[in-house]
Amino acid sequence: MEALKQRILRDGKCFEGGILKVDNFINHQMDPILMKSIAVEFVRRFAGTKINKILTIEASGIAPAIMVGYLLELPVVFAKKKKPSTMENMLSTTVYSFTKDRTYDVCVCGDYLKEGDKVLFIDDFLANGNAAKGIIDLVNQAGAELVGMGFIIEKEFQHGREELRTYGIHVESLAIIESLDNCEIKIK
Ligand code: 5GP
Repeated sequence: MEALKQRILRDGKCFEGGILKVDNFINHQMDPILMKSIAVEFVRRFAGTKINKILTIEASGIAPAIMVGYLLELPVVFAKKKKPSTMENMLSTTVYSFTKDRTYDVCVCGDYLKEGDKVLFIDDFLANGNAAKGIIDLVNQAGAELVGMGFIIEKEFQHGREELRTYGIHVESLAIIESLDNCEIKIK
């Protein structure tokens, strides 16, 4: 997606350890016009796929997910990173965070993710694929079907897509970062 690539090149910043900071338009300040274009592109790429629910993880996945849900007129569920004491029928899994170097629990209420659901997962980044694998676990626990995974930015050099390929999932990324070596952003 050309507009996204140009924005990453213009406003993205590299950090040690292969981290790309896009706080200017995705992760802190958000650009709703770009976010809408991102959602339109996701809708185009998953056209023809039967979907009845959008799933994401808080916090940064929520903005693109709600835009996609709005366009498709479908409910959006976000997996929570803190287990609420009041949640009943909880499904949970553990995810390792590459950016924070720690594990955390992710949970979702089984009332909102259940058998028969055809789920499209949307998130900001695909890196090593750990968050995505947690989502696969939650969807499996619910007896739902994961029909696709859409990422705004994929860091190809961290090989998450290869992990996901083994599950046979339809994966789409709107901008693929080849390398952040020497703090230079190389986009495919
Ligand atoms: P993974 O689980 O695929 O290794 O990493 C995906 C999650 O980690 C994303 O949901 C995102 O929040 C975070 N993440 C991974 N790499 C980056 C990065 O380079 N920049 C930012 N801002 N977040 C990242």
